[in-house]
Parts: sequence; C-alpha cells; structure tokens
Amino acid sequence: MKPTIDGFYGNFGGAFVPEMLHKNVEELKNNYITILSDSEFKKELAGLLKNYVGRPTPLYKAENLSRIYKTNVFLKREDLNHTGAHKINNALGQILLAKKMGKTSIIAETGAGQHGVATATACALFGLPCKVFMGELDIERQAPNVARMKMLGAEVIPALSGSKTLKDATNEAIRYWIANPEAYYLIGSVVGPHPYPDLVARLQAVISKEIKQQLLTENSIENPDYVIACVGGGSNAAGAFYHFIDNEDVKLVAVEAAGEGVNTGKSAATFQLGSLGVIHGNQTLVMQNSEGQIIEPYSISAGLDYPGIGPMLAELLTSKRCIGLDATDLEALEAAKLLTQQEGIIPALESAHAIAALEKIKFKPTDVVVVNLSGRGDKDMDTYMNYFKNGK
Ligand SMILES: *Cc1c(COP(=O)(O)O)cnc(C)c1O
Repeated sequence: MKPTIDGFYGNFGGAFVPEMLHKNVEELKNNYITILSDSEFKKELAGLLKNYVGRPTPLYKAENLSRIYKTNVFLKREDLNHTGAHKINNALGQILLAKKMGKTSIIAETGAGQHGVATATACALFGLPCKVFMGELDIERQAPNVARMKMLGAEVIPALSGSKTLKDATNEAIRYWIANPEAYYLIGSVVGPHPYPDLVARLQAVISKEIKQQLLTENSIENPDYVIACVGGGSNAAGAFYHFIDNEDVKLVAVEAAGEGVNTGKSAATFQLGSLGVIHGNQTLVMQNSEGQIIEPYSISAGLDYPGIGPMLAELLTSKRCIGLDATDLEALEAAKLLTQQEGIIPALESAHAIAALEKIKFKPTDVVVVNLSGRGDKDMDTYMNYFKNGK
C-alpha cells in the first residue's frame, strides 16, 4: 500500500514539520526510494538480515494453541531476531540508508527500549555515534534494555515531560533534531512525517514476504485466512500485513492496547478513542481532548503506550480493510502465560496483546491464522514476576 506523492493514505499522513526540518525531510523523501531500490543496497541489507539478524525467522505451527482454539495457529517468530524483536529489520535498513546519504550521527526515540537497542546495535556495527531519547518511566520499567543500549555505546537521554513515555521521548528527539538537523533521525515505527511511514513499512514488509513464501513452500497454503498483529505505532502490523493488503480474502486484525479498559481513562486504544489531529509530523488519529491537547495514553506494555497510530494503519482501519480489536493489560498477561505454558515461548508484553486476540475471534477448524510474534519477553520479566507472584 503506497501513499500519495505527499505521503497521504486517504485522510492520513503528510509531512507537518517545522521550517528547520523541511530540508532534511525533503532530502530523505527525494532519496529513499532510489536508494532502497539500488541493487547494491538490497544485496547489503539482505546479507545483514540473513547472517546478522538470522532471517528468515521461522513460521511455527503452534499445535497446542491450535488445539485450544480449534483452528490452525502459526506464529511468525520475530522474537527470534537478533536483539529480540522486529525493530532490527528497520534499524539496519535505515542505518544503511543514512550511510548512503553521508550522515555521521544517529538519533532515535524508544518506548520499550527495543528500538533503542536495535538502533544502538546498528550504530555499534557501523561505528556511528548514537543518542536515544527515552521516557523516564520507561527507563524504570525496561531496565535491561537501558543497560544494553549503554553497553552498546549509546547515550540514553531521559525525557522528563508529560507521562514520561514514548510520546515524550519522541517530542524530545524532534526537539533535538530541530537544533541539530545534521543528525539522521532513525524513527522506529510507521509514524512521523512522510516519508518515514512508507520507509519503515517497506523495511518491515520482509515479514509478510516471508510469511507468504513459508506458507506456500512449507505448508502448500496460498494465503492465510487471518493475519493478527499488535499495534503501537503500527510497524510490525504494517510489515505483517504489507503483502496481503491486496488479497481481500485475507483478514487483517490489528490489536490495540486497551490498558485497564477502553473507557477507563487508562488506555492506549487510539483507533477507538482518537480523532483526526496532528502528532509527530503526520495527520492521523490522535487521543486528544476537545482543545487538541494530547490525552496521556496508558498500557502495561511500554511499546504500545502511544497516543497516535501510523497513518497507513489509520486508513486500513477506517476503511475497514483491517479489523480493529483490543486487549487489556490483564488479557495480555493471561495470553503471555498461556503461550509460555502451552508452547514454551515467553512473548513480549506487546506481542501478548496479539495472542490475546485469539480468544476474541470465532475461527473455523480449517482457518489458517498467522499471529505475528513481534518480540520476546526477556525485557518484561519483572512485570511478569510481579503479576504472577501476586497469584492473580
Ligand atoms: C516496539 C514494539 C511493538 C510496537 O511497535 P509497532 O511499531 O506497533 O510494531 C510491538 N512489539 C514489540 C516487541 C516491540 O518492541
């Protein structure tokens, strides 16, 4: 699914940036497709994805979940990527792009720390200095990833404003970028001003490309009936959906974080709670009050705790090409426990929201259901221990 020349998907997208950043964003816009389509670039990225990241990631038939849900559940194992989530697919692609554009320093924002770790990893590999902006609350709840970033040589800069989470980290990164426009801003999801949403979607599209190939060659299945992914900004969903968007028979399911419940005031279910607004350089659905002030989002998972949603996902959901579901903190925790005890896989809390959706859909025994397991749970062990210790 490609945006218009101005970066719009229907009503959503565009590039709303301050004058100071106009030149950077234009430069990226004028170069990214040429560089991404260059055979040398493609070869270099494919080599890294294979031998450094460990792609293709397996498409695993989860027999025990399949029995429980009386259907055929496959897990796309993005949790097995180097650094533990899908974020590295994008980080390596953008680092190579930054190199080709002659950039010499990198900045990034991070929520759960997965994008920060992926970016710090890519920067270590290519010898580039790296600053990662991270909300102070997220620094507390994702300590292992903060330690990783530091060991990788990145500078972690706490964002102290607002809810001290991803939105605030992104604000800080943009503020820094305005003052230092020579830096390359490596955005971690399908958000931000055009061309970032399209750039990141193209780099994550490797997920659905592999799913298609693996279903066909390993399972003789043409297309799945469902592809399910959790949505924070929307990059793992965009990647898992990308090559199926034109296959109308494939149901695409995006699962948002409901937090304590969609209508409790403690939620991050942007598609249900949002209205048209501008956030971080693009026009999309935003959780805001009647004065346009951002409503602080909440989710137990730091990677889904965002008051916006990528413009491509906003359009897919609004046009009903994609089904929107949500899962609460408790549902995600229970889904994480189920996956762990049935399949021996501890998922990231974000990915557990996608697993939780299996409870909410009535499948046929013949259905082929692919769940994108966006990341592994190492970073969330504290949260899991606290929850399960209390015997809830
Ligand atoms: C960052 C992250 C997400 C949410 O980001 P998207 O851009 O919506 O994919 C989901 N799962 C994991 C494991 C993450 O690290």
